[in-house]
Amino acid sequence: MFDVEVQNLLFSYSKEITLKDISFATDPGDFVGILGPNGSGKTTLLKLIAGILKPDKGVIKIKGKRVDSFKRRDLARILGFVTQELSPLFSFTVHRIIETGLIPHKPRLFPSLTESDENRIKVALQNTGSESFLKRSFHTLSAGEQRRVSIARVLAQNTPIILVDEPMAHLDPGHVVSISRVLKKLSADGKTIIAAFHDINAAFSLCNKILFLKKGKMYGYGSAKEILTEVNLERVYGTRFQLIKGSDSHFFVVPKFH
Ligand code: ADP
Repeated sequence: MFDVEVQNLLFSYSKEITLKDISFATDPGDFVGILGPNGSGKTTLLKLIAGILKPDKGVIKIKGKRVDSFKRRDLARILGFVTQELSPLFSFTVHRIIETGLIPHKPRLFPSLTESDENRIKVALQNTGSESFLKRSFHTLSAGEQRRVSIARVLAQNTPIILVDEPMAHLDPGHVVSISRVLKKLSADGKTIIAAFHDINAAFSLCNKILFLKKGKMYGYGSAKEILTEVNLERVYGTRFQLIKGSDSHFFVVPKFH
């Protein structure tokens, strides 16, 4: 059984089609990077997988079951989503925000936090370098700090499937590396991660599969080496790239400015 399966997806916000003919499946432990230019449909695809948006056509299954047939609470035990928007939680303290990640696992009648819950919150904050924000109001944090707290919330939620919209957005290089390590560890522990990336090189180093989108259609789905070729990058982003082999045998790409 696939962790996430998308079949012949079609979706439009209005008259114009936003996503078309999207079909792919992930195995447990896959780290899928969704790449594509601005407006190619990356965020929309994540929202559809999370059941926030409904497809016009096609089917999305989470662990073999249609996403629209889950109760929200049951889905939240399986799937965590780090969105770009955390507005409803904006005025909460950081502690309260992380706590909301634990709610799906708690009995409805006894939602108070146990010592082990508090420990989970502490570990999630430590892993994202966010311990010092615990008592702060979320809206007083910088964009990068908010991002780390959002990731901590999903760590506390402890779901087998994690969706992340732009994991590295607003992070400085030090935190890009530390969050990369956190995501790598989650992936090594067998969690399935699907993340939309702006940063091609972060996706290259982290993901075992790349879903490449161009104008709402799938341009390719496969290993980073197979998909992120200079030819494909130029065709999708409309600018030339150079593929460079780093000293540690990792590949990275740079756009050609001249
Ligand atoms: P990406 O994440 O790749 O930048 P998005 O999924 O955010 O792309 O957007 C895909 C397309 O859908 C864009 O053309 C965008 O303008 C449009 N779009 C996104 N959200 C909405 C919305 N709520 N209503 C109407 N159009 C939207």
